[in-house]
Amino acid sequence: MKSVIVGGGIGGLVSALLLNKKGYDVSIIEQRDRLGGRLSYVEQDDFKIDEGPTIVLLPHMLTSILDEAGVPAENYELIQIDPLYSIHFKDGSTYQKYHDHEKQLNEVERLYPNEKKGYIKFMQVMDHRFEQGMESFIKRSFSNKRDFWTKKNLKTLVKLKAYRTVYQSLKTYFQEENMRLAYSLQSLYIGGNPYESPALYSLISYSEHKHGIYYLKGGYASLVEVLEKELEKRGIPVHLNSKVTSLTSEGDKATGLYIENEWVSADHIILNGDFPIMSKLLHSTKQSERKFTPSSSCLLLYFGLDKVYENTPVHQFFMSSDFSNHMKEVFENKIVPTDPSFYSFHPSVIDSSLAPEGKGVLYTLVPVPSGTHIDWSQQEDFIEKIIDELEVRGYPNLRNHIVWKKVRNPDIAEKEGLFQGGSFGIAPILFQSGVFRPQAKPSSLQNVYAVGASVHPGGGIPIVMQGAKNMVDVLQNDNEQEAEKWSM
Ligand SMILES: Cc1cc2nc3c(=O)[nH]c(=O)nc-3n(C[C@H](O)[C@H](O)[C@H](O)COP(=O)(O)OP(=O)(O)OC[C@H]3O[C@@H](n4cnc5c(N)ncnc54)[C@H](O)[C@@H]3O)c2cc1C
Repeated sequence: MKSVIVGGGIGGLVSALLLNKKGYDVSIIEQRDRLGGRLSYVEQDDFKIDEGPTIVLLPHMLTSILDEAGVPAENYELIQIDPLYSIHFKDGSTYQKYHDHEKQLNEVERLYPNEKKGYIKFMQVMDHRFEQGMESFIKRSFSNKRDFWTKKNLKTLVKLKAYRTVYQSLKTYFQEENMRLAYSLQSLYIGGNPYESPALYSLISYSEHKHGIYYLKGGYASLVEVLEKELEKRGIPVHLNSKVTSLTSEGDKATGLYIENEWVSADHIILNGDFPIMSKLLHSTKQSERKFTPSSSCLLLYFGLDKVYENTPVHQFFMSSDFSNHMKEVFENKIVPTDPSFYSFHPSVIDSSLAPEGKGVLYTLVPVPSGTHIDWSQQEDFIEKIIDELEVRGYPNLRNHIVWKKVRNPDIAEKEGLFQGGSFGIAPILFQSGVFRPQAKPSSLQNVYAVGASVHPGGGIPIVMQGAKNMVDVLQNDNEQEAEKWSM
């Protein structure tokens, strides 16, 4: 059985290794000159820094799927980050997060003594909801819609209070606005508006405390090299610089695909490019007509520095004076934010392999609207304003230490194949979550499958990997059923 994967993002790579383990003859077709998709580096001279993902969440999900895919744990190194990160508020206060429960309680006590009970309750309630949410909604596909609309799932949804938004949910635990924001801003990790995304996503901030956050030695993008080596070792073919332009089908089965003018036959096709774009390959099926809402996008600044800011947290959040207005500008008004909150990543404090000795790298992410209506080449003032803030709030004299600077804006993301330049796949709104998100088997074509951030269960490296595992289960199950049919 010949399985062809369209796209070598993390979803495609992990699918290839899982399918190979199960004995499928699998290959990867990638349009770019390298694998990894959003998992990539920005490099200059002897400096390198992650271009996209930086925070390793759900470490157990990541390691257990790598293990199942046959990637030995000694091939990569995860470093725990604790304290997790600092959140700097405009009122001058800084809230730190910890993996250790007691340390966190002391921190809550220090800044917001009246919120201690609320924090304990949040962690207790989420302990229960996490397991339920994972088993019912993340670790399975809803390719068969009836699997979602069961009595048990509906009960779970009510228990999870899925009808609330993330922010509304956090309001029930915390009185202080800073605490509400500290536990709801994480829906931005997947490009969702905390004032709009379903409460299920408040599990992200819970999971950071409970399961910890990690850093992959060498940067998150070093995972691509690890997977590439494994593909090579097992002789899995990878075709770079090869863009899939169309699929061919007969009845409800795809028969193959075109790479420009060359036709290749396939028994299974797995789409890993961003789904709203990939769906156009599924001509004359319902999915190819569907309208999608993109996630937020990012303006990213990368710096090579002539120093390391020692004793600085790896991850920091710098909140603006009006977070809700920032979200309104990103998700509703879709304008260049007037006073944005932003995130910074300075891995050089724990990893000297990213820059020449004594030098460092820095990454800054500002949530901005998706779409191509803003002329980002005219936003130099906006960029300078962010650098001003970085200097004042986290990195003194930054300008004097910049060796090089690179900028990545939504136009670049859109040109590279992300739907409307949205950084995280389609938005995690209610009607694009769970059963409403494109599924592992996304259309009426019975041997076409999908994996990636815009496909259920959603975005983020470990969750996309879980999506690959779910997809392989569906494909395997289809195959077994087909084999049974023929043996009768
Ligand atoms: C700025 C940023 C920060 C992020 N931070 C984090 C984080 O801290 N932690 C985290 O876990 N996640 C993070 N993410 C999310 C994470 O990067 C994504 O969820 C994940 O990488 C998506 O993987 P994917 O499998 O959907 O593939 P993609 O990365 O989208 O790759 C798809 C591949 O398919 C190829 N392709 C597309 N069309 C075709 C075609 N027609 N023919 C051949 N090939 C094709 C593309 O070239 C690409 O290589 C971040 C993302 C961004 C952008």
